[in-house]
Amino acid sequence: MPLTSGQYDEIAPGVRRLVARNPGFMTGPGTNTYLVGNGPYVVIDPGPEDAVHVERILEKTGGRIDAVLATHTHPDHSPAAGALAQATGAKVMGKPAPVHGRQDAEFAPSNVLNDGDRVTVGEHVLRALHTPGHASNHLCYLLEGTGLLFTGDHLMQGSTVVISPPDGSMGDYLRSLARLQKESVSRIAPGHGLTIEDAQAEIVRIVAHRLQREAKVVERLERAGTVNIDTLVVSVYDDVDPRLHPVAKGSLLAHLLKLEQDGRVVRDSPDANALWSLQNLSNPPR
Ligand SMILES: [Zn+2]
Repeated sequence: MPLTSGQYDEIAPGVRRLVARNPGFMTGPGTNTYLVGNGPYVVIDPGPEDAVHVERILEKTGGRIDAVLATHTHPDHSPAAGALAQATGAKVMGKPAPVHGRQDAEFAPSNVLNDGDRVTVGEHVLRALHTPGHASNHLCYLLEGTGLLFTGDHLMQGSTVVISPPDGSMGDYLRSLARLQKESVSRIAPGHGLTIEDAQAEIVRIVAHRLQREAKVVERLERAGTVNIDTLVVSVYDDVDPRLHPVAKGSLLAHLLKLEQDGRVVRDSPDANALWSLQNLSNPPR
Protein backbone atom coordinates (compact mmCIF):
# COMPACT_ATOMS: atom_id res chain seq x y z
CA MET A 1 0.00 0.00 0.00
CA PRO A 2 1.45 3.39 -0.94
CA LEU A 3 1.55 6.11 1.69
CA THR A 4 -1.05 8.82 1.81
CA SER A 5 -0.87 12.38 3.03
CA GLY A 6 -1.63 12.59 6.76
CA GLN A 7 -1.00 8.87 7.39
CA TYR A 8 0.40 7.89 10.81
CA ASP A 9 2.18 4.56 11.48
CA GLU A 10 4.67 2.92 13.78
CA ILE A 11 7.60 1.74 11.62
CA ALA A 12 9.82 0.32 14.39
CA PRO A 13 9.60 0.10 18.19
CA GLY A 14 9.50 3.69 19.40
CA VAL A 15 9.58 5.16 15.87
CA ARG A 16 6.49 6.66 14.26
CA ARG A 17 6.01 8.25 10.85
CA LEU A 18 3.57 11.08 10.18
CA VAL A 19 3.19 12.08 6.52
CA ALA A 20 2.94 15.85 5.99
CA ARG A 21 0.16 17.27 3.84
CA ASN A 22 2.40 18.30 0.92
CA PRO A 23 1.99 15.58 -1.72
CA GLY A 24 3.36 16.51 -5.12
CA PHE A 25 5.56 15.91 -8.08
CA MET A 26 8.81 16.32 -6.10
CA THR A 27 7.56 15.15 -2.67
CA GLY A 28 5.64 11.95 -3.50
CA PRO A 29 2.95 11.31 -0.86
CA GLY A 30 4.40 14.19 1.21
CA THR A 31 7.37 14.66 3.55
CA ASN A 32 7.81 11.99 6.23
CA THR A 33 8.13 13.43 9.73
CA TYR A 34 9.53 10.88 12.19
CA LEU A 35 8.80 10.87 15.91
CA VAL A 36 11.46 8.95 17.84
CA GLY A 37 11.02 7.91 21.47
CA ASN A 38 8.16 7.15 23.82
CA GLY A 39 8.06 10.53 25.50
CA PRO A 40 10.02 12.66 25.48
CA TYR A 41 10.49 12.64 21.71
CA VAL A 42 12.90 13.71 19.01
CA VAL A 43 11.29 14.91 15.78
CA ILE A 44 13.18 14.29 12.53
CA ASP A 45 12.23 16.52 9.57
CA PRO A 46 9.29 18.54 10.93
CA GLY A 47 8.20 19.32 7.35
CA PRO A 48 6.84 22.42 5.68
CA GLU A 49 5.26 25.33 7.49
CA ASP A 50 1.73 23.96 7.92
CA ALA A 51 -0.24 24.71 11.09
CA VAL A 52 -2.31 21.52 10.81
CA HIS A 53 0.78 19.29 10.48
CA VAL A 54 2.46 21.10 13.42
CA GLU A 55 -0.72 20.64 15.47
CA ARG A 56 -0.74 16.91 14.71
CA ILE A 57 2.94 16.54 15.75
CA LEU A 58 2.10 18.30 19.03
CA GLU A 59 -0.91 16.04 19.53
CA LYS A 60 1.02 12.79 18.84
CA THR A 61 3.87 13.78 21.18
CA GLY A 62 1.78 15.50 23.82
CA GLY A 63 4.10 18.45 23.23
CA ARG A 64 6.97 16.56 24.93
CA ILE A 65 9.66 17.25 22.33
CA ASP A 66 13.33 17.51 23.39
CA ALA A 67 14.79 18.22 19.98
CA VAL A 68 13.78 18.88 16.39
CA LEU A 69 16.32 17.56 13.85
CA ALA A 70 16.47 18.46 10.17
CA THR A 71 18.20 16.30 7.57
CA HIS A 72 18.65 19.40 5.38
CA THR A 73 17.06 22.77 4.72
CA HIS A 74 14.99 22.29 1.58
CA PRO A 75 11.57 23.91 2.04
CA ASP A 76 9.70 20.61 2.39
CA HIS A 77 11.87 19.38 5.31
CA SER A 78 12.82 22.01 7.91
CA PRO A 79 10.47 25.06 8.02
CA ALA A 80 8.13 23.73 10.76
CA ALA A 81 11.11 23.53 13.19
CA GLY A 82 10.58 27.11 14.36
CA ALA A 83 6.90 26.64 15.23
CA LEU A 84 7.60 23.39 17.11
CA ALA A 85 10.48 24.93 19.06
CA GLN A 86 8.32 27.90 19.95
CA ALA A 87 5.43 25.69 21.13
CA THR A 88 7.55 23.24 23.16
CA GLY A 89 10.94 24.80 23.94
CA ALA A 90 12.62 22.00 21.96
CA LYS A 91 16.19 22.49 20.77
CA VAL A 92 16.61 22.77 17.00
CA MET A 93 19.46 20.71 15.52
CA GLY A 94 21.05 20.26 12.12
CA LYS A 95 23.20 22.35 9.83
CA PRO A 96 22.21 25.89 8.81
CA ALA A 97 21.16 26.59 5.20
CA PRO A 98 23.97 27.26 2.73
CA VAL A 99 23.93 30.61 0.92
CA HIS A 100 22.73 29.23 -2.42
CA GLY A 101 19.05 30.20 -2.72
CA ARG A 102 15.86 28.11 -2.55
CA GLN A 103 16.63 26.91 0.99
CA ASP A 104 15.02 27.52 4.37
CA ALA A 105 17.18 30.46 5.48
CA GLU A 106 15.00 30.80 8.62
CA PHE A 107 16.26 27.47 9.95
CA ALA A 108 18.25 28.45 13.03
CA PRO A 109 19.78 25.46 14.83
CA SER A 110 20.55 26.02 18.51
CA ASN A 111 22.86 23.00 18.17
CA VAL A 112 24.82 22.67 14.92
CA LEU A 113 25.42 18.96 14.33
CA ASN A 114 28.62 17.60 12.86
CA ASP A 115 29.45 14.14 11.61
CA GLY A 116 29.48 11.67 14.50
CA ASP A 117 27.48 13.83 16.92
CA ARG A 118 24.95 11.90 19.01
CA VAL A 119 21.47 12.89 20.19
CA THR A 120 19.92 10.83 23.00
CA VAL A 121 16.23 10.54 23.81
CA GLY A 122 15.28 7.98 26.47
CA GLU A 123 16.95 4.71 25.48
CA HIS A 124 17.32 5.82 21.83
CA VAL A 125 20.58 7.23 20.47
CA LEU A 126 20.75 8.91 17.07
CA ARG A 127 24.12 9.47 15.40
CA ALA A 128 24.48 12.16 12.74
CA LEU A 129 26.25 11.20 9.50
CA HIS A 130 27.20 14.05 7.18
CA THR A 131 26.10 12.95 3.71
CA PRO A 132 26.55 15.83 1.23
CA GLY A 133 25.38 15.29 -2.37
CA HIS A 134 21.67 16.08 -2.61
CA ALA A 135 22.40 19.10 -0.40
CA SER A 136 25.77 20.20 0.98
CA ASN A 137 24.39 20.38 4.54
CA HIS A 138 22.62 17.00 4.42
CA LEU A 139 22.71 14.76 7.50
CA CYS A 140 21.40 11.22 7.84
CA TYR A 141 20.60 9.92 11.33
CA LEU A 142 21.40 6.36 12.39
CA LEU A 143 19.31 4.92 15.22
CA GLU A 144 22.14 3.12 16.95
CA GLY A 145 21.77 -0.57 17.66
CA THR A 146 18.92 -1.00 15.15
CA GLY A 147 20.48 -0.38 11.70
CA LEU A 148 17.61 2.01 10.92
CA LEU A 149 18.82 5.07 9.00
CA PHE A 150 16.76 8.23 8.50
CA THR A 151 17.92 9.34 5.09
CA GLY A 152 15.98 12.54 4.34
CA ASP A 153 16.51 13.07 0.61
CA HIS A 154 19.82 11.21 0.40
CA LEU A 155 17.85 8.07 -0.46
CA MET A 156 14.12 8.00 -1.12
CA GLN A 157 11.64 5.33 -2.06
CA GLY A 158 10.13 5.25 -5.51
CA SER A 159 12.18 7.93 -7.27
CA THR A 160 15.67 9.13 -8.05
CA VAL A 161 17.11 11.85 -5.84
CA VAL A 162 17.68 15.23 -7.52
CA ILE A 163 21.33 16.33 -7.56
CA SER A 164 21.36 19.95 -8.64
CA PRO A 165 24.56 22.05 -8.62
CA PRO A 166 25.89 24.26 -7.20
CA ASP A 167 24.66 22.99 -3.82
CA GLY A 168 24.22 19.43 -5.09
CA SER A 169 27.30 17.43 -6.09
CA MET A 170 27.42 14.04 -7.81
CA GLY A 171 30.98 13.35 -6.62
CA ASP A 172 29.93 14.04 -3.01
CA TYR A 173 26.75 12.00 -3.47
CA LEU A 174 28.64 8.89 -4.59
CA ARG A 175 31.22 9.33 -1.80
CA SER A 176 28.39 9.65 0.75
CA LEU A 177 26.79 6.44 -0.56
CA ALA A 178 30.14 4.61 -0.36
CA ARG A 179 30.49 5.80 3.21
CA LEU A 180 27.04 4.36 4.13
CA GLN A 181 28.20 0.99 2.78
CA LYS A 182 30.76 0.94 5.60
CA GLU A 183 28.18 1.73 8.31
CA SER A 184 25.92 -0.80 10.01
CA VAL A 185 22.89 0.38 8.05
CA SER A 186 20.25 -2.26 7.31
CA ARG A 187 16.92 -0.43 6.84
CA ILE A 188 16.05 2.97 5.39
CA ALA A 189 13.44 5.43 6.65
CA PRO A 190 13.42 7.96 3.80
CA GLY A 191 12.16 11.54 3.70
CA HIS A 192 9.58 10.52 1.10
CA GLY A 193 7.84 7.16 0.61
CA LEU A 194 7.85 3.83 2.41
CA THR A 195 10.68 2.28 4.38
CA ILE A 196 13.22 0.34 2.31
CA GLU A 197 13.89 -3.02 3.90
CA ASP A 198 17.24 -4.02 2.38
CA ALA A 199 19.33 -0.88 2.74
CA GLN A 200 22.62 -2.23 1.42
CA ALA A 201 21.03 -3.78 -1.70
CA GLU A 202 19.30 -0.44 -2.37
CA ILE A 203 22.59 1.47 -2.05
CA VAL A 204 24.29 -0.93 -4.49
CA ARG A 205 21.38 -0.45 -6.92
CA ILE A 206 21.51 3.36 -6.67
CA VAL A 207 25.29 3.51 -7.18
CA ALA A 208 24.97 1.22 -10.23
CA HIS A 209 22.15 3.39 -11.62
CA ARG A 210 24.23 6.59 -11.28
CA LEU A 211 27.33 5.00 -12.82
CA GLN A 212 25.23 3.63 -15.68
CA ARG A 213 23.94 7.16 -16.35
CA GLU A 214 27.49 8.49 -16.15
CA ALA A 215 28.59 5.90 -18.72
CA LYS A 216 25.74 7.06 -20.98
CA VAL A 217 26.90 10.69 -20.66
CA VAL A 218 30.39 9.62 -21.77
CA GLU A 219 29.02 7.52 -24.63
CA ARG A 220 26.74 10.32 -25.91
CA LEU A 221 29.57 12.87 -25.66
CA GLU A 222 31.76 10.54 -27.66
CA ARG A 223 29.11 10.49 -30.41
CA ALA A 224 28.35 14.22 -30.30
CA GLY A 225 31.94 15.47 -30.16
CA THR A 226 31.27 18.94 -28.78
CA VAL A 227 27.85 19.83 -27.45
CA ASN A 228 25.97 22.14 -25.06
CA ILE A 229 23.89 20.88 -22.17
CA ASP A 230 20.49 21.68 -23.79
CA THR A 231 21.29 19.34 -26.67
CA LEU A 232 23.02 16.71 -24.55
CA VAL A 233 20.11 16.36 -22.10
CA VAL A 234 17.80 15.14 -24.90
CA SER A 235 20.08 12.23 -25.84
CA VAL A 236 21.29 11.28 -22.34
CA TYR A 237 17.72 11.28 -20.96
CA ASP A 238 15.97 9.84 -24.04
CA ASP A 239 14.40 7.26 -21.69
CA VAL A 240 12.72 10.00 -19.61
CA ASP A 241 9.55 12.04 -20.22
CA PRO A 242 10.71 15.24 -22.04
CA ARG A 243 8.73 17.30 -19.50
CA LEU A 244 11.34 16.20 -16.94
CA HIS A 245 14.28 17.38 -19.06
CA PRO A 246 14.53 20.77 -17.27
CA VAL A 247 15.00 18.87 -13.95
CA ALA A 248 17.27 16.31 -15.62
CA LYS A 249 19.51 19.16 -16.79
CA GLY A 250 20.55 19.74 -13.16
CA SER A 251 21.51 16.07 -12.80
CA LEU A 252 23.31 16.11 -16.15
CA LEU A 253 25.34 19.15 -15.05
CA ALA A 254 26.16 17.29 -11.82
CA HIS A 255 27.45 14.32 -13.87
CA LEU A 256 29.48 16.61 -16.14
CA LEU A 257 31.05 18.46 -13.20
CA LYS A 258 32.02 15.13 -11.59
CA LEU A 259 33.52 13.92 -14.89
CA GLU A 260 35.38 17.24 -15.13
CA GLN A 261 36.76 16.74 -11.60
CA ASP A 262 37.76 13.23 -12.63
CA GLY A 263 39.65 14.71 -15.60
CA ARG A 264 37.47 12.95 -18.19
CA VAL A 265 35.59 15.88 -19.79
CA VAL A 266 36.37 19.53 -20.54
CA ARG A 267 34.29 22.61 -21.30
CA ASP A 268 35.12 25.78 -23.22
CA SER A 269 33.73 28.23 -20.64
CA PRO A 270 32.29 28.33 -17.12
CA ASP A 271 28.87 29.67 -18.23
CA ALA A 272 25.58 27.80 -18.64
CA ASN A 273 25.89 27.51 -22.41
CA ALA A 274 29.37 25.99 -22.33
CA LEU A 275 30.34 23.44 -24.95
CA TRP A 276 31.38 20.14 -23.40
CA SER A 277 33.56 17.41 -24.86
CA LEU A 278 35.56 14.39 -23.78
CA GLN A 279 39.11 15.00 -22.63
CA ASN A 280 41.39 14.33 -25.59
CA LEU A 281 42.59 10.76 -25.19
CA SER A 282 45.94 11.47 -26.85
CA ASN A 283 46.51 13.89 -23.99
CA PRO A 284 45.37 11.89 -20.96
CA PRO A 285 44.91 13.63 -17.63
CA ARG A 286 47.46 13.09 -14.86
ZN1 LIG B 1 15.76 17.96 -0.48
